[in-house]
Amino acid sequence: MISKLFYSAFLLILQAATLSGQVKVRLFSAHNSDTIVFSVTSGKYRLEYFPSGEALLVKGQKGIIVRSGAKLVIKSSKDHFLTISDSVMIKCLTGDGSFSLSPDNSGKLTRFYSGELRCKSDLGTILLINMCDPESYIAGVVKAEGGSGRHPEYNKTQAVIARTYLYGHLKRHSLDGFDLCDDVHCQAFNGTTNDTMILNSTIETTGQVIVGPDSLPITAAFHSNCGGETIPSENLWLRGYSYLKKVKDPYCISSPNSHWSKTISVRDWIDYLKRSGMSTEPVDKTKLNFSQPVRVVNYRAGNFSIPFVQIRTDLGLRSSFFSVKVKGDSVILNGRGYGHGAGLCQEGAMVMASKGYDYRKIIGFYYDGVTIKNFNTNEGNLKLSEPEKE
Ligand SMILES: [Zn+2]
Ligand SMILES: [Zn+2]
Repeated sequence: MISKLFYSAFLLILQAATLSGQVKVRLFSAHNSDTIVFSVTSGKYRLEYFPSGEALLVKGQKGIIVRSGAKLVIKSSKDHFLTISDSVMIKCLTGDGSFSLSPDNSGKLTRFYSGELRCKSDLGTILLINMCDPESYIAGVVKAEGGSGRHPEYNKTQAVIARTYLYGHLKRHSLDGFDLCDDVHCQAFNGTTNDTMILNSTIETTGQVIVGPDSLPITAAFHSNCGGETIPSENLWLRGYSYLKKVKDPYCISSPNSHWSKTISVRDWIDYLKRSGMSTEPVDKTKLNFSQPVRVVNYRAGNFSIPFVQIRTDLGLRSSFFSVKVKGDSVILNGRGYGHGAGLCQEGAMVMASKGYDYRKIIGFYYDGVTIKNFNTNEGNLKLSEPEKE
């Protein structure tokens, strides 16, 4: 178990190493909460009410924030009324402050954070924006994405990918008043972590991002398992990326998500193809067979063709890398991999890490022609990406 001393040291290292300021993350983005329980877990905090007023909270003390129309009602631990306010800024008065948040009074869902918090009533919910250290955020994303117990080189790989996403999407929610949300729309972030291995991997890669030939952070796409071969990005999205090419992956083919199978009736398969534009139903049902030993773009039955990527989306399949075989009244889809298939294959990366490859080799294997630069020292004159048009 991590010691408190280690975590304090981690924060100090980060404060020294991070030159790029704080990241603004919207918390509990997927929850529509009318009540938020704020609880100090270490240090001392000051609640500053707008337009006026303040209160101090120390370790163990709570503030309960309840939305009432466009206003916030703030109560203390013992349900004593404090004030009604337009917004609340919660500032840490000590260097090592941390707090927990629960989106209701039950305490069933509690997450831990560091830094500061801004709260205001917004469109039927309480908007919570956490201003926190980017590296503390990165460690939380790695934890949310991969869980605990992974190989250090794999954790470093995920940390660099999460940081690349952060610095490539800092303007994603700029019109909303924050940088990123904590939902999968941006990157899942369920709060800070005290997992020593993840914190170490984050420290050891502090500031590092993956950049393309244009010095911009790359679109560091990843997925669970590629099935032995990644998909070139132009076969997946409208836009292709030079670094998201087809990669033959020998590492993931025995991993848990390397194979899948699904059986549906011939009738349902034909009905689906007809809905997708197939004009004539083949008399010979074996015409529906299609083998995909290596990834190809389209499934073909007679003169009809449809992208495998489209079939995957329409039918909610685990991957677009599958063969079709008619057996009696059934169609058996035999598939490989799990996920969209572009960029880094997580299960392959885990095997590479266990075989002794470091995170730079792993990243270089899945992303073609990229370099790893340190954002904090502005190595290589890095640029931030432009705002996204969605
Ligand atoms: Zn988002
Ligand atoms: Zn793979």
